[in-house]
Amino acid sequence: MTIYLHDTRKGKKVPFEPLKDDEVTMYLCGPTVYNYAHIGNARPAVVFDLLARVLRRRYTLIFARNITDVDDKINKMSAETGKPIDEITAKYVKAYNDDMAALGVLPPDVEPFATHHVAEMIEMIRALIDSGHAYEAEGHVLFDVSSYADYGSLSKRNLREMIAGSRVEVAPYKRAAHDFVLWKPSTPDLPGWESPWGVGRPGWHIECSAMAAKHLGRTIDIHGGGQDLVFPHHENELAQSRCAHGGEDFARYWVHNGFLSIDHEKMSKSLGNVVLVHDLIKTIPGEVIRLTLLSGHYRQPLDWSKETIDSARRMLDRLYGAVRGIDVSDSERREAEIPEALVAALEDDLNTPRAMAEFFGLARSLNKATDADERRRLAAQMYAVGDLMGLLQSDPDDWFAGHGESEMSAGTIEEMLEKRRSARAAKRFAEADAIRDELAKAGIQIEDGPEGTTWRRVD
Ligand code: AMP
Ligand code: ZN
Repeated sequence: MTIYLHDTRKGKKVPFEPLKDDEVTMYLCGPTVYNYAHIGNARPAVVFDLLARVLRRRYTLIFARNITDVDDKINKMSAETGKPIDEITAKYVKAYNDDMAALGVLPPDVEPFATHHVAEMIEMIRALIDSGHAYEAEGHVLFDVSSYADYGSLSKRNLREMIAGSRVEVAPYKRAAHDFVLWKPSTPDLPGWESPWGVGRPGWHIECSAMAAKHLGRTIDIHGGGQDLVFPHHENELAQSRCAHGGEDFARYWVHNGFLSIDHEKMSKSLGNVVLVHDLIKTIPGEVIRLTLLSGHYRQPLDWSKETIDSARRMLDRLYGAVRGIDVSDSERREAEIPEALVAALEDDLNTPRAMAEFFGLARSLNKATDADERRRLAAQMYAVGDLMGLLQSDPDDWFAGHGESEMSAGTIEEMLEKRRSARAAKRFAEADAIRDELAKAGIQIEDGPEGTTWRRVD
């Protein structure tokens, strides 16, 4: 079987073939640390965490996700609050990692900080100047876009569209409006490093190019990020990396996630609808947030709303309901085989809706199964799928105890009744009674009659 990924540069889904046979390198643009991550920022973190887990089944993966800890937005925050820059960045790096961990995002293999790589950035800028791809002007160093014929090949834009479509800064020291900054001068009140062009700081794009080359090599397999990064950020990373490395390719596959909206509106400060992960995790279990983010295909737009969250919560109730009460050892869980169709769905450009349908198929088989060994085998399989997808990480009893206040859905009730029928048929009466008690606790009264079991909600 082959892994397929949608490559932005080719504009289609293609078979994934890494540079080396057994090792894959992946770089994801990480957060700029001046405030808490919002739920849109969490989408790439969760999507690429899942991709990393899927790749690790087959390959040794080196996954780098950087921290942008030098940026004008950070400087502005420091000026506004009077707090030192290090204090701000340290606080939000920790908050980011804690918040992502709550969503089941595993730490990357490498977490490079931009401020620890200024020497590499300076080296790269020097190589660009030496090869005629960059020029110095009034303490700035700019990339000369006209020197690179393939500029626009990733975002499929021509130069006129690029200038019209983005707020390129027109500055007197630029030879052309679309030339972008590699280095800029710093005044004493701003972070600055000694360089051949005076005391200054790097532009944003050069950071990722330098850190990717340092930790993953000149040509990486996968470069990821949100769709908004295709232009200009990734187009610029691509241009400067190739030009600094004598034309060698930078990333073999470019993978971008779609955007997340809030109740069908763009999330923005001016609309006052920015939802922070830090706040969400106080009231919504991390797995519900994770599954909401994975419920649609990663390339599609995703709407964050009460309905999408409730639907993910109900899905998890069904999954936890199926494995509840079945003892599975750690080794059974580790060794259980993941159904092939489910792996195939994930390896098909991370088709999470199809993978979830397979997951529910497994839950249905488990609910119907009567043989104790078979039930343990299926439950172990469900946990193994959970471990792959970053779900089912809680004890089922804790899961239900944690949010007993939410109304049990009809689907969950029907599934529990199905389980109870199976338990009774197999003469596991204690289990059948436990299910009835659990339903009663959730305000569901059941009645056994000649036609089967009926249920109703009671206050
Ligand atoms: P930023 O800190 O703005 O550079 O964003 C960090 C990451 O979050 C980037 O990969 C962005 O593409 C991504 N991102 C930002 N907003 C959204 C959104 N509303 N939906 C999905 N991804 C987003
Ligand atoms: Zn980047």
